[in-house]
Amino acid sequence: MTNVQVAGVTVDTRHFINGERVASDDTFTNTSPIDGSNLGEIARGGQREIDLAVAAARAAFPGWAATSPQDRAAILHKIADLVEERVSELANVETMDNGALLRSHLRGVMPRVAHNFRFFADYLVNELGHPDFETRGHNNHVSWDPSGVAALITPWNAPLMLASWKIAPALAAGDTVVLKPAEWTPLTASLFADITAEAGLPAGVFNVVQGYGKEAGAALVAHPDLSRISFTGSVPTAKSIARAAADNLTPCSFELGGKSPCIVMEDADLELAATLAVEQYDNAGQVCLSGTRILVHESIADAFAEAFKAKVATLRQGDPRDIETDIGPQVHRVHFERIKGFVDRAKEGGANIVVGGAPNAELGGLYFSPTLVKDPEVGSEIVTQEVFGPVLTMQTFSTDDEVVAMANGTEFGLAAILVSGNRDHADAIAKQLVAGTIWVNCFFVRDLRAPFGGSKKSGVGREGGTWSFDFYADVKNTVVSPNGWKE
Ligand code: NAD
Repeated sequence: MTNVQVAGVTVDTRHFINGERVASDDTFTNTSPIDGSNLGEIARGGQREIDLAVAAARAAFPGWAATSPQDRAAILHKIADLVEERVSELANVETMDNGALLRSHLRGVMPRVAHNFRFFADYLVNELGHPDFETRGHNNHVSWDPSGVAALITPWNAPLMLASWKIAPALAAGDTVVLKPAEWTPLTASLFADITAEAGLPAGVFNVVQGYGKEAGAALVAHPDLSRISFTGSVPTAKSIARAAADNLTPCSFELGGKSPCIVMEDADLELAATLAVEQYDNAGQVCLSGTRILVHESIADAFAEAFKAKVATLRQGDPRDIETDIGPQVHRVHFERIKGFVDRAKEGGANIVVGGAPNAELGGLYFSPTLVKDPEVGSEIVTQEVFGPVLTMQTFSTDDEVVAMANGTEFGLAAILVSGNRDHADAIAKQLVAGTIWVNCFFVRDLRAPFGGSKKSGVGREGGTWSFDFYADVKNTVVSPNGWKE
């Protein structure tokens, strides 16, 4: 079987290598988290398919690297046009595949995919650059040269959006690409491959190999012919990729997990604080940046908890295709059981469950009720490890020093949310937080010019704006002497 119909859209289930569809001897079954329905058999790639894809990307590299920034930008804009034309198709297929809200895919996520391409195209042409500078009369000129074949490995929680956040700058930088999407959500990468061909991207510049992480993924990151590996996913996988990359000294960029704090200061606007806290259930809690540890000043803890509960009571959980739904299912049975395990163990340890605390019995399937665990045991796994589901914890603090220590007290450092009514106070706390992004009185305001990434175990490196080009390109300094010229 090479094509499947999902939400009325035809999706090719084979790999996309050198501009052509390539099958594998084996396949794996892809199911929908919405109702467990079988979405089809997907090509299961391994060493053979990875070798083909990397060879195709290598062969295509000199031609693509030689194109002008303007020509590359024109193709990226064409890709963005086609994504915009197909927002509905991409959104519907993605919702069937990963169970995230159709509403979000239509209004935010798929338009952002297009924006990723426009942004890096325009940045390449209009922004990327460094002023020349002189050293004893010698001119220094900095350039960003294409580096080779970029291997991109992506997770399932925002499949096409996170892939495009890597594909767009890699292509803009003049690299060619091999993408290995997550096995739980293979479909939109395949639709996107069709879009690249239609946009006129030459064969071999963009390739997709489907398959499991331990097979296709492991074969890809160990390949000696890569210039870059960009990975978004979990810490254990990043460690194994780093080990594989070490043999070839392939530079890696890692965007990993988080256990971010959402700090509510004594002087916070309570209504705003409760709204921001409830937003942490977005995408059924499957958001790396989510501020899952709510840290509230003890003097307002009860009032905050009441405001929070009132807001959670208004959330509608259900079928993610329903535009009115606020929380959909978890992505996969394995992940659902993992989340349930965290909550069950917390309950066994005597945790105080203020909201939820169990699967949604009415809906069944993979729907887990939004949950708040109050005053969990200090250092227990539910406050130190990433649950990646609709599970928040709430702890109280009394001093600034205490909240800073709590906020920084995990191995992660991806983001932090701070709610305060006093600018100086907020500033003083923000300076002490260890995280790649701090949001003060807001959440998820993202500018693609900004550096994005994590501190500590939340990542290695930064992407976004010039930082993306610094990673994907070979940054070069050309020093030209004032002497020796014959003209
Ligand atoms: P994961 O690490 O299990 O898998 C991610 C990808 O890696 C998948 O494509 C998988 O097939 C592949 N993979 C698995 N083993 C591999 C191996 N040995 N070699 C090469 N590739 C391999 O992560 P997940 O469960 O898909 O995603 C959830 C995680 O991603 C969470 O930790 C979340 O916080 C993180 N995440 C981080 C960001 C960020 O920007 N920091 C964004 C989204 C998700």
